[in-house]
Amino acid sequence: MASTPLVHRFGATGAGTPVNAYIVEGASGVAVVDATLTVSDGRALRERVDALGKPLLGVVVTHAHPDHYGGLAELVAGLDVPVFATAGVAAVIRRDDPVKEQSLRPMFGDEWAAERAFPDTTVADGEVVALDGIRLAVTDLGPGESPHDSLWSLADAPATVFSADVAYDRRHCYLADGFHEQWLANIARLRAELPAGATLHPGHGEPCGLEVLDWQERYIHTFLDAIERAGWDDADAARQAVVERMRDYLPSGELQFLMELSIRPLAPAV
Ligand SMILES: [Zn+2]
Repeated sequence: MASTPLVHRFGATGAGTPVNAYIVEGASGVAVVDATLTVSDGRALRERVDALGKPLLGVVVTHAHPDHYGGLAELVAGLDVPVFATAGVAAVIRRDDPVKEQSLRPMFGDEWAAERAFPDTTVADGEVVALDGIRLAVTDLGPGESPHDSLWSLADAPATVFSADVAYDRRHCYLADGFHEQWLANIARLRAELPAGATLHPGHGEPCGLEVLDWQERYIHTFLDAIERAGWDDADAARQAVVERMRDYLPSGELQFLMELSIRPLAPAV
């Protein structure tokens, strides 16, 4: 009988953007969930994989945001390994990558890869990707935190869930894509569908329990309410009011810039 794979969290910190990738270590090889943002972190992730002394068998990409695929080219450099994603995730990454190049190059310079790698193997909702003894099952979520989200879990240990950014572990969040209604619906769906006692391995923060879904739901509602209540005839003051309200909800400044980037896209036109 195959042993349960080990899950290693790789906590990247590059470019002021803490983000996780996960190394799933089986008996004879490893799979990686997500690929971090920067060139340096993608390279460090690859070094961690290589240090385990087992071949990289495949990578899965959870959703269509650059902090989860920007380091992919470094992670798979010189290797011929499949990179899996749902068709929706793969399509949105390719569609939006030129826009991300425009916005991220000025922010991150050479730490945003000159040439990005992309998912090359699509998987359907519920499909299981088998990489030697590692079996990863995908749930296609559609729009949510990003224009297309998915969640992966160990097929043989379904309480081990790679939950991506469906729920940040108490970090400030990115809402600028505007799919918060669908995001809230995804949270409700997962609350109903995930096994009790599941451990979420999130894209940002530490492994956590399902209670983080409640925290995330309240974060979204608090943000939307703060936007609605702010007096937008004075945009600077309104923006400040939103930031203060969210800092009341979450005193940490970690990833605060993601929340701040979300204010203008959601603010009413003035
Ligand atoms: Zn993220």
